[in-house]
Amino acid sequence: MKIVHVSAECYPAAKVGGLADVVGALPKYQNALGHTAQVVMPYYKTKYFLERPYRVVQEATLPLGHQFYPYKILQIEDSSLGYELYTVVVHDLLERENVYSYGDDTARFMAFQKGVMEWLLRQQVPPDIVHCHDHHSGLIPFMVSKGVHYTSLRQTPTVLTIHNGQYQGQFGFDLIHFMPEFYRHDIGLLEWGGMINPLASAIKCAWRITTVSPSYLEEIQHTANGLEALLSHERGKSVGILNGIDTQVWNPVTDPMLHVNYSIEDLEEGKGGNKAWLCEIFQLDPNKPLFAFIGRLVYEKGADLLPEAFYQALNDHRGRLNILLLGSGDINVENQLNNIKNSFAGNYNTYIGYNEELAHRVYGGADFLLMPSRVEPCGLNQMYAMRYGTIPIVRRTGGLRDTVLDMGDPGGFGICHDQSSVWDVTYSMSRALGLYEDNERFRTLQKQIMQIDHSWEKAAEHYISLYNRINII
Ligand code: ADP
Repeated sequence: MKIVHVSAECYPAAKVGGLADVVGALPKYQNALGHTAQVVMPYYKTKYFLERPYRVVQEATLPLGHQFYPYKILQIEDSSLGYELYTVVVHDLLERENVYSYGDDTARFMAFQKGVMEWLLRQQVPPDIVHCHDHHSGLIPFMVSKGVHYTSLRQTPTVLTIHNGQYQGQFGFDLIHFMPEFYRHDIGLLEWGGMINPLASAIKCAWRITTVSPSYLEEIQHTANGLEALLSHERGKSVGILNGIDTQVWNPVTDPMLHVNYSIEDLEEGKGGNKAWLCEIFQLDPNKPLFAFIGRLVYEKGADLLPEAFYQALNDHRGRLNILLLGSGDINVENQLNNIKNSFAGNYNTYIGYNEELAHRVYGGADFLLMPSRVEPCGLNQMYAMRYGTIPIVRRTGGLRDTVLDMGDPGGFGICHDQSSVWDVTYSMSRALGLYEDNERFRTLQKQIMQIDHSWEKAAEHYISLYNRINII
């Protein structure tokens, strides 16, 4: 089966969050099952793209509103990926340093999607499945099924995976002229809440919908930033498939980004070595438990709770614990997190920014990873943490609910709480301190979580059987 994944992010070419990790891994595991999976994404000015050799496979212009933009499709030459990577170059729109957050993102991702459609049209072997990820490729199911110029693709099944339903890419009807030609009676398939809503359009037009965990599929029937009724209506064609992790990239035995590699056998020394490095760089106490947070500092992640929760935990257990935070986002939260540094020098520090290597070292060196998320469609951090022997402390929501069992439950191994509150976070941290003091139990749980299988094999098979079921219908 030939599968084309369409995404705004793909690790290692360009990563903002978990979307990149998923799209960078799933096709590799689908290929291992004997299929041909490819990825197509925008070309950004990232180090990866700038350094990589490529082959030009298509070159033309595409219309956008009243202008024509030259574009190219490149095939990146990188056999280490495990799949073919294609990229759409639109110099004036896509070729920028960041992936998102430009004022003209609507035009940028429309140009990307039109470029993808032109490329799909000209393929010698057309795809059996076009698999779209999040709203940046959300207009493709509409274009495939209703675009006047794309009739040869009409029978191609499209699948939408919702990695994050909060972001939908809405824009006003004043930009409808960006769309490729379609019959006006189909306009309702683009609209939700009086706007053109790419995610809603994909939910309506894709042949199947998946979410990145079963619990998230249930939750978005009730809270989905305005899409609840639509998602309930389309429930019949939806399924939740839990993400895996790329165990070739995320392996403490071989991870080249770690300070010290380790396995379950030399866990204590290995994690100790990584912790010692972190504590030296961030002036923390290597003899005390290390709590960490890695992620975007946004409301969804519960980041607004962290300054007060950290202050209270550090104050209540003065000198008995360390906290290290790696992340960026809301400027007020960043400032609050930095402001408490002076009060707890030697036990608390932050790295405001994005740093892939440091993230690996934090998973390797921390004792506990905090994820007090309000919304977590799947969450990869907790799975990386577990693979590296770091006990997850999570709020029971979405994929966190599906992957972490509280240590108080039979067979449990993590620390879970139910509410998004400062108290829940600090109470969980107190429980973690109790666990840390019981060294034998702590080590047993670390070994237990390192052995949990979160690999992609199972999920990759699940996607293939979903595609197969579409193709029989
Ligand atoms: P989301 O995609 O919602 O941000 P996920 O848990 O699905 O959350 O994935 C987050 C990914 O981004 C993980 O690979 C995590 O390690 C990484 N990440 C998040 N913030 C940072 C950061 N500041 N520096 C390095 N890696 C980060």
